[in-house]
Amino acid sequence: MQRILNYIGGAHVEPAGGAYLETIEPATGVAYCEVPDSDERDVELAVAAAKQAFPSWSSTPAFERAALLLEIAEMIEDNLDDLARAESIDNGKPVHIARAVDIPRAALNFRFFATAILHESSESHASDDQAINYTLRKPRGVAGLISPWNLPLYLFTWKIAPAIATGNTAVAKPSEVTPMTAHLLTEICHAAGMPNGVLNVVHGLGAKVGAPLTAHRDVPTLSFTGGTATGREIAKTAAPMFKKVSLEMGGKNPTVVFADCDFETTVREAVRASFSNQGQICLCGSRIFVERPIYEKFVDAFVAQTSQLTIGDPLEQTEQVNQGALVSKAQLEKVQSYVALAREEGGEIVCGGEVPEPVSERCKGGYFFQPTVITGLSYDCRVNTEEIFGPVVTIMPFDDEAQVIDYANATDYGLAASIWTRDTSRAHRVAHRIQSGTVWVNCWMIRDLRVPFGGMKQSGLGREGGEEALRFFTEPKNVCVRL
Ligand code: NAD
Repeated sequence: MQRILNYIGGAHVEPAGGAYLETIEPATGVAYCEVPDSDERDVELAVAAAKQAFPSWSSTPAFERAALLLEIAEMIEDNLDDLARAESIDNGKPVHIARAVDIPRAALNFRFFATAILHESSESHASDDQAINYTLRKPRGVAGLISPWNLPLYLFTWKIAPAIATGNTAVAKPSEVTPMTAHLLTEICHAAGMPNGVLNVVHGLGAKVGAPLTAHRDVPTLSFTGGTATGREIAKTAAPMFKKVSLEMGGKNPTVVFADCDFETTVREAVRASFSNQGQICLCGSRIFVERPIYEKFVDAFVAQTSQLTIGDPLEQTEQVNQGALVSKAQLEKVQSYVALAREEGGEIVCGGEVPEPVSERCKGGYFFQPTVITGLSYDCRVNTEEIFGPVVTIMPFDDEAQVIDYANATDYGLAASIWTRDTSRAHRVAHRIQSGTVWVNCWMIRDLRVPFGGMKQSGLGREGGEEALRFFTEPKNVCVRL
């Protein structure tokens, strides 16, 4: 079985305790690789390596840092097929989706921040004729970067690229559930000539690696993406240490469909928003509210399209397979428990709701679940307020704008929303009132890397993307010069 290693100080090394965890291929349920079960000793070594690399890396000219990041982007693209296959095996997503979405985006993350730092400017404030102020933005030191399993390389690099582009060094921890492409990235960084210690990757469990990284006194900056409960733990540790923290957490996103929408496009995109990546994207629209005059028609069309989705072996090259496996047994069981809860709460399963027949002999032990549509639930029941993070969507009718805004806002989350209407004034009105970090109008998941990305309420603290990320990873310093 393949064994991957930590990457510390420019070398691939065994974990201090010598222990390993099994990584399961979700499409088969079979272990296929071993990943270090690291602990605080490995974190200590990684932070020390990052700290040692910081003075030199932070004073490396921006164009040299940019050149390295561009080289990494190119090498990711050169290895597109291998990385996509690795991501698909590790995560269960269809390989053609990893090839078209996840891996190209990882390359783009490096390219975007490599070029962003070449165009940086900072403010100057003239205090009448008394003084001139200017602002310096300095890297903050060692950044701790913690990422989840749903978009493994995509989200891992979304943190690494801005952190190191701005001159920080990093200790990064990928999800223990999907470690493979993080490992392959370390090989690429090494081959690209990244100086030792600039990026260190420590594999292992949240409690044994993420927690000591969060608590480390030499890590003043923490960027986390994952569940809200984990984010809360990180916030508790980080607050009394006055760390700078960015938390990107869970979502329970509303899709708001008005009767005057472009019906065909709306149904098609709402299906995509519900079931992309088996519903395991924090931005997936998992609660669909439909204006009553078109409610029945919408449910019929939505169910018809959902039943056309094809579950299959994620490694099949055909684009017809659009549903792979859920990431783990635990995630499958969680999804099943919410479908059972929906029944208890009075919901009707109008599509899916079951583990499908095995898609092939190879995949008979895999963690597959049918795309599932539930109606008849109240907007404030548990199924409609707690994050499921799987291929399960609910559809509910509404009567007017004020009511649907109340429904949409009736969760603790506030990550993303989409509004479907031909009435532009209404689109703006509703967008202003929905409590959400992102609101898409007549679209879903169009991502411009320059926009502020993140959540309100319990979905997040801080923003990623563009200027927000450059600011997050740097410390502003005001220099005031008397004239
Ligand atoms: P998770 O919170 O279980 O794990 C995320 C990461 O945190 C993993 O690397 C894990 O090992 C680590 N971790 C766990 N316990 C820790 C601790 N005590 N201290 C430090 N680190 C710890 O989340 P997950 O199950 O991997 O991912 C799914 C969640 O991520 C969902 O809630 C989803 O909405 C969210 N998510 C959010 C965004 C966003 O941008 N807002 C994007 C993707 C996923």
